[in-house]
Order: sequence, then structure tokens, then C-alpha cells
Amino acid sequence: MRKTKSGPIQRESLTYKLGRRCLYCGEPIEDQARANKIHCSPWVDEYGKRHDCKRRRHSLVHKPDDDLLLEISAGQREKKRQIERMIAAHGDEVTTEVLIAYGIKLMDCLRFSYHSGMGTFYFLGYRIISNPKLKTHKIERYEQL
Ligand SMILES: [Zn+2]
Repeated sequence: MRKTKSGPIQRESLTYKLGRRCLYCGEPIEDQARANKIHCSPWVDEYGKRHDCKRRRHSLVHKPDDDLLLEISAGQREKKRQIERMIAAHGDEVTTEVLIAYGIKLMDCLRFSYHSGMGTFYFLGYRIISNPKLKTHKIERYEQL
């Protein structure tokens, strides 16, 4: 039985055979909804509070990224302090043993490049230019990343 004209779809005419569910709350999504619908429609509860699964899930999905960034920058700030302690004690050219003693792992850098057999490892505030043959590492202040 078809509804006449452009009247709203009646609840009774909805089917759930496809078994789609809201990715946030798990409520079934009607088969009549558009194909790319993955959240239930926003609805207002008896207290007048608006529930918007799409928005809520997006804020959940994006939160871990921010946490991860904060974690990375906290780690880089800690490495920066270690580099500064090392320079204060040993100057701006050190051996691999000194790097290891200060817990500075070159591969923990933000980025690196190789040029003529020398590796340059960029950290927050500094870059370390390594000569793998001599096992020496020159530390320079470097602000752009
Ligand atoms: Zn939902």
C-alpha cells in the first residue's frame, strides 16, 4: 500500500531487514533511510535534551588524535630537555655513547634526512647531524620544523 503524495513516512511502513545500526548507540536504522546513513537521526528526549549520535561519535573519533598529538609533543619536550642537559655537560658535539647515556634515540626524531652519508635528525628545537663513520653527533639549534 503506497502512501499518497508527499506525506511523511509512517513508522509502521519502516522495515529493518538490512540490519543497519547506528555506529554510536546501536539503534536500528530503517531500511528506508539513505544508503550512507550510519547514525540514527537526532532526536529529543522527554527532558528536551537533543541526542545527536553523528556529532557525538565524531567528537569521540577525533579525540584520540588530539591526545596522541599531546603525547607526542610532551615526549618531544622531554627529549628537548635531555638534549639541553647533554649539551650543558658535553658540549654540542658528542659521541654515540653520550647520546645513549642521555636516552636520546635518533629514531625518535620528528623527521630525518640523509645527505652525503650524514644523517640529520630533527627534534623539537634542535637537529642532530650524525656522522655514522666517526660515530659523532653535532647538535645545532633548529627552530623550524
Ligand atoms: Zn544513535
